[in-house]
Amino acid sequence: MRDSDLHINIARLREVGLDLQLHLDEDWFANWQLEDPDLEFSGPREIEAQVHLERHGLDILVRGHLEGALQVSCSRCLTSFSQPVASDFDLLLAPGPKQVGKEEEELSKADLDVDFYSGEIVNLENILREQILLALPLKPLCAEACQGICPHCGADLNQETCECAAENSDSPLAILKKIKV
Ligand SMILES: [Zn+2]
Ligand SMILES: [Zn+2]
Repeated sequence: MRDSDLHINIARLREVGLDLQLHLDEDWFANWQLEDPDLEFSGPREIEAQVHLERHGLDILVRGHLEGALQVSCSRCLTSFSQPVASDFDLLLAPGPKQVGKEEEELSKADLDVDFYSGEIVNLENILREQILLALPLKPLCAEACQGICPHCGADLNQETCECAAENSDSPLAILKKIKV
């Protein structure tokens, strides 16, 4: 997937619209990670996306579906696992505000709560990045029943049990100890 393929000139959008079949591969993600080192998922990463763009007067309708899997860390036990992602999106892009001061522009964006494209170009790259982030769960879990890591000794409770449970501050034994003191 080359970058230029994801910057769509609106002159390409005839009335019937434009359909794109996109394969976002490891290179595409590596490039994203280069720009955003805080990205919380690693390889192997692969997403297939179908995007339909349509022009309505000056507004651009962007409709899409993305599906694939990303390697993420479990929010409880930190094990790396493959998280399936799938989502549909439906966006309306209005022409960007005239070139005013950067701050003013940010403000009007927040006020209106509408997405914009600027100039003649729709930046599909940013749209796809945003939609992928939205499709990821906030707290990924390797399994619903993941036991996580013991906060006291760091044991992976999916693999082993530890002796810390009895010392937990809310365990009956610990509460009893407090009462006695
Ligand atoms: Zn886990
Ligand atoms: Zn423990």
